[in-house]
Amino acid sequence: MPERDEEEGMRFETRAIHAGQDPEPVYGAVNVPIFQTSTYAQEGVGKPKTYDYARGGNPTREALQNVLASLEGGARALCYASGMAAESTLLLLLRPGDHVVLPDDVYGGTYRLLARVLSDWGLAFDTVDMTDPDALRKAVRDETRVVWVESPSNPLLKIVDIALAAEIAQEAGARCVVDNTFATPYLQRPLELGADVVVHSVTKYLGGHSDLVGGAVVVRDDELAERLAFLQNAVGAVPGPMDCYLALRGVKTLAVRMEAHCRGARRVAEFLAGHPGVARVHYPGLPEHPGHDLAARQMRDFGGMVSFEMGGADEAIRVAEATRLFFLGESLGGVESLIEVPGPMTHASVAGSPLEVSPALVRLSVGIEHPDDLVADLDQALG
Ligand SMILES: *Cc1c(COP(=O)(O)O)cnc(C)c1O
Repeated sequence: MPERDEEEGMRFETRAIHAGQDPEPVYGAVNVPIFQTSTYAQEGVGKPKTYDYARGGNPTREALQNVLASLEGGARALCYASGMAAESTLLLLLRPGDHVVLPDDVYGGTYRLLARVLSDWGLAFDTVDMTDPDALRKAVRDETRVVWVESPSNPLLKIVDIALAAEIAQEAGARCVVDNTFATPYLQRPLELGADVVVHSVTKYLGGHSDLVGGAVVVRDDELAERLAFLQNAVGAVPGPMDCYLALRGVKTLAVRMEAHCRGARRVAEFLAGHPGVARVHYPGLPEHPGHDLAARQMRDFGGMVSFEMGGADEAIRVAEATRLFFLGESLGGVESLIEVPGPMTHASVAGSPLEVSPALVRLSVGIEHPDDLVADLDQALG
């Protein structure tokens, strides 16, 4: 992966702690305070010091936006109340008649937003297997404005060639948007690979402690950033200062957490691949994964998500209900390990759509507990 870090003077780990986060100027507090205010006293009529109203701006939010822009290598980041708030505000850039190409295993909430909300406002979309560049080329048409990429994908961890997708989008006059939630900027930086926009569910690895819901959009183009800042204030789907503070605190340890997530996930994937009760393992770090070589090129490491197939639906449910350390729950990216059965859980709402998954599939978000303990827990659950 290209190392752009040096150009900016500081490495990723350092920027995670320092970018946008100077000591507070009055008392020197080393943490950016939680500026819990809705409005700001002004110095004269129409003369605000910096901010006038907290929907438009808040220093805690600004610090989070600045560190995320730095980590993704973007010009600017805008934060929102959730990943879906970030995505829906971003898609307000489009107009009736515009067309979006989505991966056929896109995050279910993104699919629902297009299929059941924005289609009523005249947006068209198609889903396609983005691991097949020819299929993607065919899906792009004159009205296409956005090629939406998710890599690694949810829950099958498919890997899409981001540079190629960005090239195809550019040739078509469309923007390439990458949902970088699963990889985080520590493992993959889509803007450096040619993408125009990165979106995040900050709820997941960026926050990292399962204690907040948030979203972000990062862009490399200043003009687009201006338009999005306007929409952020106009639409108002902004995060509160407490959640921004928690996200900032999470981001500081992103690098060390991701190293531990990757280490644990590799151990778990190797264990599952050798277990006779497991039919198939999906983890891009395994050499037999179809996206392994591509992932090795475009990512620093292979991430903390693993999924696997049991013999049938009943077995999948039995395993998910039998773990002790892996909590049975939706979401991902926290320090604690989670297990779920996508068919009846996270992917229940996409049954019958192109996103439907096998009922025998189990998904793991591997936390940062000791890998030996995680493997022992799965071993006893598999029986
Ligand atoms: C969770 C998630 C989202 C949506 O984010 P919220 O914070 O839950 O609104 C979008 N994309 C991916 C890949 C996700 O995992």
